[in-house]
Order: sequence, then structure tokens, then C-alpha cells
Amino acid sequence: MEDLEKMYEEGGISRQVYDFGEKILKDLKERFEDFEKMAEYNQLKIMSALRECKVSEACFAPTTGYGYNDLGRDTLEEVYAKVFNTEAALVRPQITCGTHAIATAISAQLRPGDELLSVSGKPYDTLEEIIGIRPGKGSLKEYGISYSQVDLTPSGAFDKEKIKTAIKPDTKLIAIQRSKGYQTRPSLSVEAIGDVISFIKSIRSDIIVFVDNCYGEFVERYEPTDVGADIIAGSLIKNPGGGLAPCGGYIAGKADLIENAAYRLTCPGLGKEVGASLNVNRSFYQGLFMAPTVVCSSLKAAVFAAAIYERLGFDVIPSSDSRRADIIQAVTLGSKERVIAFCNGIQSASPVDAHVTCEPWDMPGYDCQVIMAAGAFISGSSIELSADAPIKEPYAVYFQGGLTWPHAKYGILSSLQKLVDENLTDIYRPA
Ligand SMILES: *Cc1c(COP(=O)(O)O)cnc(C)c1O
Repeated sequence: MEDLEKMYEEGGISRQVYDFGEKILKDLKERFEDFEKMAEYNQLKIMSALRECKVSEACFAPTTGYGYNDLGRDTLEEVYAKVFNTEAALVRPQITCGTHAIATAISAQLRPGDELLSVSGKPYDTLEEIIGIRPGKGSLKEYGISYSQVDLTPSGAFDKEKIKTAIKPDTKLIAIQRSKGYQTRPSLSVEAIGDVISFIKSIRSDIIVFVDNCYGEFVERYEPTDVGADIIAGSLIKNPGGGLAPCGGYIAGKADLIENAAYRLTCPGLGKEVGASLNVNRSFYQGLFMAPTVVCSSLKAAVFAAAIYERLGFDVIPSSDSRRADIIQAVTLGSKERVIAFCNGIQSASPVDAHVTCEPWDMPGYDCQVIMAAGAFISGSSIELSADAPIKEPYAVYFQGGLTWPHAKYGILSSLQKLVDENLTDIYRPA
């Protein structure tokens, strides 16, 4: 394919880097086929839900003002409930991001004197101020809600013995984070999550189990709510928005818990009844429809990146041959220079803002500088090819997304090209 190589060269990818990538890809054929099967399964799951809920063109009509009787919004929430196998769901543009979805889902269930227990170790960075681990105005701590935490074992498993002793009479809600977030621990499989939920429920069946589902949707056949989670939350500018949702978040779970969340999101008395969908319904539906194949592209991208950087001697989590629990790929590059070069490689292969250089900055909600490469159609969307890294030891870059596989492939080759150009790695003498 002479022409193709020429196109890559015009796109800034040298023949050597391209060939290196092709060699790696040869070994990934079977894995890619598995991802395609998974997309097929999840696509059919979504098709059933769309059909059963009788989604029609009328669902795409915008509403304004209070948003009473918003057919598109209400039907979409039924679709989400079907897909996630729950009694109810909230899917709203007024949920501003994943952090907001999680904060709403959790805090709606807790009252003064209750305890929140995390059993998957330190929660995602932005939740620290919500819980009050770091001082935050309006944190759960300010409202008299205590917090405790059980870390995963060194091998990344749930520590059942410690969980058992950490559960106290005032433990109201247990939180589990499916994806590793900005940590170098393994992400948790739905199977492992189901197993620990059974364990928790055998100790006390009335404890509410919440799962932060960010980046996990449609990676596996089952979702945490298929294996006993009472409530889950996530962002629509990640997996379930399929790259088309312009904003928003979702919460799915038991009807009474979703009702609480709705009262928290809007206000007591109004709950789910208000919230105009403006003009986003069509993109929410179409995004969900696209999500399984977009997740499939992202998984191919993650494994391709893992295989490349593994070959070059860097630590990657997860390894290129391990079972995937989310779309995030961590690559420990070991230096600030490499992290910046990697991110700029992704940036320069982006469909938007390919001409800009990214630099570390003090992002709100994080305790150190963060660098983000994101040339996305939707601002901050991380289901689109993107990379981000906290500028601190061990200088790991977290790489995710890819609306299409050809673009993701180009982006990853571009990251490698930057490292090669700046003499930060050697593809001729891989470790
Ligand atoms: C992205 C993410 C969040 C927060 O979502 P934002 O949309 O960035 O606020 C929370 N938890 C996990 C595991 C995430 O990946």
C-alpha cells in the first residue's frame, strides 16, 4: 500500500515509525476481533431498548422553559434504564459532567450522621473536594457525613476482610470506582465488582452500592447494575455519548434512589419533572446508538498504544494482552519531557486545534498541574482521542478514546513520532 504510506508521510509519520506500528498490529488481530464481537453484542442490546421504548422522530423535538412532558427526555431515560437493566435513569444536559453525576448520585442518598465508604481505594481526584478529603465548600463533610476508605490489595483486588471490618452501623453507601482514573492500579472488571457486591450485601443487604461507571460503559457485556449495583453514574462526553452528545451525564439505578437523585439535581418537589432538553435529544440518542462501535475503536487504540510502548520498554497498565475493564490506557513514561512530547503528538494529529501546542496548567479540582491533549469536536470530550497526565511522579500519561480506529491509529503513531523526533525513545533498539 504505497499510497497509504505516502499519506502517512504527508501526515508527519516517518516510514520507520509506520513500519514499527504495522509490525505491532500484526499480533493484535485476534484481540481486535474480540472487541468487534463485544460491539456487536452491545449494539444489539441498545437496539432492543430503542425498539421496546418505541423511539420515534417525535423524541427529537426540542423543549424549552420548564420542560414538562418532554417526550424525548423521558423516553431516553427509559432507554437508558433498559440498557443498564435498572428501574429508572436520569439522563440530562443539566448534569454538567461526570463529577457532577457522581456527586449528585451519592450525596442524594446521604444524610447527616451517615458514612460513605469507598472500597476501591482513593476515589477520583475531583471527588476529594466533594467528600471533604481535601477541604471543599459544601462538601459532604461540612454536612456531617463521614468518610472512610479501604484500599485495594497490592495486586488490585478488593480487600474483603478489611471491607468487613470497615462496615459500621452508620455505613449508608459504599462507592466503587470501576476505572482506574489517574492511578496506576488495574481497573475493575464487572465480574470482580459483582463478587464484592454479593459479599457486601451478605453482610448488610440495606447498604446502597454505588459504582462510578466512567469509561467502563460497553467495554464488557455486563454493566455493574447487571451484577447488583444499586446505582451508577457516568459522563455523556465519555463512552455512552458516543462522541455526539455535546454535554451531559447519566445516573441509572433503583427507582427510589433515582428519585432522590432527581430531587438533588433539581430541587425537592420538582425532581424529574423539570429540565428542558433544548435541542440535545437527537444527539443523546444517536450518541448512544454509536457508543458500542466508538468504544470498540477506543479499545483498539488502547491496546495498540499498550503494545507499542510495552515493546519500547515502558510500563503500561493494563498490558496489551490483559482483559480490558475500561478504555483508559496508562503509559508510564518516566519523565515530564516524554509526557509533554506524547501529548503533543496526540494534539498534532487531532481534527481540531492540530496547530496548537499543549502545556501543563493548574486545572481546577486537581492537586497538581495537568497537561491535556484534546483536539476534540466537543470541548473536553475524552471519548474522542485524548491524553492527559498529572505532572507528578511516576509521569504516567493516561490515554483514551478514538471516535474512529483510523484516526486513533494515526494519533498513536504521531505520539511515537514525537518521542522519536526528540530522541526520547529508540525504536531501533527496543528494550
Ligand atoms: C472522568 C472521570 C470522572 C469525572 O468525570 P468528569 O466528567 O471529568 O467530571 C470520575 N471518575 C472517573 C473514573 C472518571 O474517569
